Amino acid sequence: MIKPAYSPLSTVREYGSLSREELVARIQERKKELNAVILGHNYQVVDIQDVSDFVGDSLALSQEAAHTDADIIVFCGVHFMAETAKILSPEKTVLMPDPGAGCPMADFVTGEGLRALKAKHPDAAVVTYVNSSAEVKAESDICCTSANAVQVVETIPEDQPIIFVPDRNLAQWVIDQTGRDNIIPWEGYCHVHDDMVLDELEFAKEDHPNALVVIHPEARQELLDRADVVTSTSGMVRMAEDHDELIIGTERGLIDKLQKEHPEKTFVPLSKAAICGNMKANTLAKLAWSLDHLRFEVTMPEDIRVRAETALQKMLAVSGGWQDPTPEQERLEMAGVRSKSCGCA
Ligand code: SF4
Repeated sequence: MIKPAYSPLSTVREYGSLSREELVARIQERKKELNAVILGHNYQVVDIQDVSDFVGDSLALSQEAAHTDADIIVFCGVHFMAETAKILSPEKTVLMPDPGAGCPMADFVTGEGLRALKAKHPDAAVVTYVNSSAEVKAESDICCTSANAVQVVETIPEDQPIIFVPDRNLAQWVIDQTGRDNIIPWEGYCHVHDDMVLDELEFAKEDHPNALVVIHPEARQELLDRADVVTSTSGMVRMAEDHDELIIGTERGLIDKLQKEHPEKTFVPLSKAAICGNMKANTLAKLAWSLDHLRFEVTMPEDIRVRAETALQKMLAVSGGWQDPTPEQERLEMAGVRSKSCGCA
């Protein structure tokens, strides 16, 4: 084990008593010692985003990390995201600062539950949103993101039923877009998006009548029906480049990030309550502790990893797979904004 230049402290509480500057210095130093890369999801607090090597959505971050020569990936997000990083980088050690940071939507479906539904619909293809566990991905024919869900579903023969897990709202969005009547949605949802309500949208529109309304497809249909644009978080990042005033229906972390990148523009949260507590579980103190103590490692059985990777790679084959960033994407990356990728997910 590589010994840190700074003396490691024993508990997260002790790290929490350090100043922000000292924590950042420790994190940067230790990251270099370990040849580690820090991934910060769009919904992380700004402090975490600021020390991350890459900021973006889970799949793009995992792809970025897989293309580095880092030995260690520290994923500041939730558990399924760290699993995705491990699926794509089996030779790297993947850590997450808070093992309790799970995703309630991903937890709606288990491998066992999905196997039971597959047994009832043996002819169905299983399309699984990337916001799911490795075990669930391993039970799937193909994965999707919120950005490519329609494209993925359109690759499946029209007369073949589809089990779509775990997000019922994204499933409904896909049904609306494709006109298919043979999609069997899992009854899961993201409480952050599902809890956004029409009243909140109406209030935001009263205050900002000229703003374009962009909403994530994890929201309920009655909201999507009133959106000017339904798009993934990557789509929102692109729209923030082109528009001066947006009402944005997704988690607050993305809006805070966009506002920081474009202080001259107006980005209004559709719901001020749209905050994912699990995403906010990561702190600088936990990140510093994680790097010093090489905890908590995310692992999975190799057969599950391989099957999950197959489902992910099938999706990447449909959506074009990994592509080197364009100069414009590199510019956004330098600004801490990833223009590529998918959703919370
Ligand atoms: S925002 Fe929703 S989908 Fe994303 S981690 Fe939180 S609960 Fe899961």
